[in-house]
Amino acid sequence: MYTLLSLTKKNSALKALLDNVNTWRHVRLERSADDDGWGSCVDANGEAVVTCSRTDHPQACLAHELLHFDLQMKGYRRVLCGRPRWQSDAIPMRLIAALDNEVQHHKMFPNFRALGFPAQQFYNDDDKSTLSLLEQVFSDFLPKAEDIVVDFLTVIAPGGSFPRKMRESFKNRMYDAWDGQFRSMFKKVEAIIFDWASGNSRDSQQIFTDVLTTIKPDLNMWLGYNDKTSFPSNGFFIGPAFA
Ligand SMILES: [Zn+2]
Repeated sequence: MYTLLSLTKKNSALKALLDNVNTWRHVRLERSADDDGWGSCVDANGEAVVTCSRTDHPQACLAHELLHFDLQMKGYRRVLCGRPRWQSDAIPMRLIAALDNEVQHHKMFPNFRALGFPAQQFYNDDDKSTLSLLEQVFSDFLPKAEDIVVDFLTVIAPGGSFPRKMRESFKNRMYDAWDGQFRSMFKKVEAIIFDWASGNSRDSQQIFTDVLTTIKPDLNMWLGYNDKTSFPSNGFFIGPAFA
């Protein structure tokens, strides 16, 4: 389908980004086994693997994935697992994964625009269905903060195919929903993430701690950069350390 060569040969800025990431880790392009979009990860051999699917804008998709690597190359450490001290400290894996993804997107987006790509192409084609899926959040009678904030992160995400105005009105509906009980938490999370987007920090420990303690002030958990077998050395605690 696509090759790194064919995708970068007519775009010198994209080629330069690829060359730069290649100095960090060897980049490999693979076809997604189930054709479910684009993604990227560092594999067990330390190679930077981009998975691809058929899309209307493959160069933008490649740029997106390379910018994930670019940010990691510059110091962002991905947070890939969590371990609560007590059951009451459990944070859904879905939130950890979304936060890891979205805090990177906020940092990457200005660079994506600087490469010359339109904001609407920041995500793969299937983000057109995002808003109708999000509409379902309002059918949840009494969600938990740690669940509903995942959808809020989607609403405040940078770029994408649904218009800014629509996002704003959706955000306001989320502020007002559920008798406004999540309004101040949402606003605080948003302010923390926007500060992060415009600041110089690439420290995932800091942004995870700030966001997660806004959602759960007494949280006591460990978050890992790899998997749970590396507890407690390869990660960090929120709240007091435990064994
Ligand atoms: Zn991404």
